[in-house]
Amino acid sequence: MIDFELTPDQAQVREFLHQFAKNVVRPASLEWERQHRIPDDFLLRLAMLRAGVSSGEVPPEYGGEGGGAGDSKDKKGRTQKNRFSLIAAEEMAWGDIGLAMNLPGPNLGGPPVQYMGTPEQKQRFFSVFTRPGLHYGAYGLTEPGAGSDVSGIRTSCRKDGAEWVLNGRKCYITNGAKADWVVIFATVDPALGRAGHRVFVVEKGTPGFSVGKIEEKMGLRSSETAELVLEDCRVPEDNLLGGEAYYRGKEGFMGAMKTFDSSRPMVGILGIGIARAAYEYARDFVKDNYVLGRALPRYVQLADRLAEDKRLLDAARLMCWRAAWMADEGLPNAKEASMAKAYAAKVAMKVCSDAVQVMGAHGLEQHQFVEKWYRDIKVFDIFEGTGQIQRIVISKRILKEPPNF
Ligand SMILES: Cc1cc2nc3c(=O)[nH]c(=O)nc-3n(C[C@H](O)[C@H](O)[C@H](O)COP(=O)(O)OP(=O)(O)OC[C@H]3O[C@@H](n4cnc5c(N)ncnc54)[C@H](O)[C@@H]3O)c2cc1C
Repeated sequence: MIDFELTPDQAQVREFLHQFAKNVVRPASLEWERQHRIPDDFLLRLAMLRAGVSSGEVPPEYGGEGGGAGDSKDKKGRTQKNRFSLIAAEEMAWGDIGLAMNLPGPNLGGPPVQYMGTPEQKQRFFSVFTRPGLHYGAYGLTEPGAGSDVSGIRTSCRKDGAEWVLNGRKCYITNGAKADWVVIFATVDPALGRAGHRVFVVEKGTPGFSVGKIEEKMGLRSSETAELVLEDCRVPEDNLLGGEAYYRGKEGFMGAMKTFDSSRPMVGILGIGIARAAYEYARDFVKDNYVLGRALPRYVQLADRLAEDKRLLDAARLMCWRAAWMADEGLPNAKEASMAKAYAAKVAMKVCSDAVQVMGAHGLEQHQFVEKWYRDIKVFDIFEGTGQIQRIVISKRILKEPPNF
């Protein structure tokens, strides 16, 4: 059963990350947002620390160093990889979500390579992250006409000799411009729907592969969100994940979906990290500025609102932890991952909004962090599947459950 007690290693890393987030990250956060980037030298020094933080894991058999989330075990020696990643991620997001999104590593591109790649492909693509310097992977699914409706992707792929020719556009790709490689989802024939999907790794510098516009966004401003363009882009057949024989049915589509079983609890907990920061900031503001002992109705309401937000945050964290625990145990968790993500995003938006509200006009001042967190949090109900899509996933699964009466 899930154990709430952190192992000594987990507690130590959480404490280290919290102090780092508080003393180093948070003071720089507003400046990074103004600059729309985090300086490379800061990211490089952080990468060298290797404090169990990276954006996606490189498996040890493909050059990963271990010693981070992958080595985390409970008292009985069972892996707590996903749970540990969540604990670390919450602290990073508490410090600055921009930093969490800018950590070097395979990012969302890692899971499809891990699930679908041949041993040779894993070796090739993961070894990039063992080289010195900042290296990123990215995940290119969304298109101008296909966001929630993944089956509607139109980026085409056509076999030509020992190469595939790709044409299309991808949009809103996190770290897309700076990535060493991007996992690109394409279709051999849109009429085949999900069965037409093929999954490629397209490397930076491949002729015909270019970066379009970089988005100006309301939040997550220090995180790069790029448009990618594929124009007669020729990739070697060895870059088709799993090889041609792997695709007998909907394997390409399933590869896209499987990524979300581990990433959705992660997205949920990142939102909780931001919202916890907002809640704590507003709570401290209230303590410093209002005389709560006075029996004014507005003070009673403020205290009640803070108490409600604390309850919601703790419940949302537990849902994320449950989904991560199921992933660690090898249990199917698609429903629980969607529940955690949908709930955490809603809770986090409410808590950030309450933090601004509680502080009144002060909450809108740019030097008060809650204004930034209020803008940052909105996207958590949009990317990795919108709230509406999560609710569809959940309802489909509960209606398939066997009758109980
Ligand atoms: C900052 C940021 C980073 C991102 N990073 C990545 C990335 O790295 N890789 C990547 O591939 N994508 C990425 N995305 C894209 C993101 O995943 C999509 O924006 C998301 O899937 C929603 O798609 P859409 O924007 O096209 O909205 P749409 O799908 O057009 O949805 C619009 C509205 O309609 C609703 N809706 C759609 N279908 C239904 C339905 N069947 N029933 C009820 N309501 C519905 C939605 O919930 C939403 O409210 C990123 C987006 C942002 C903003």
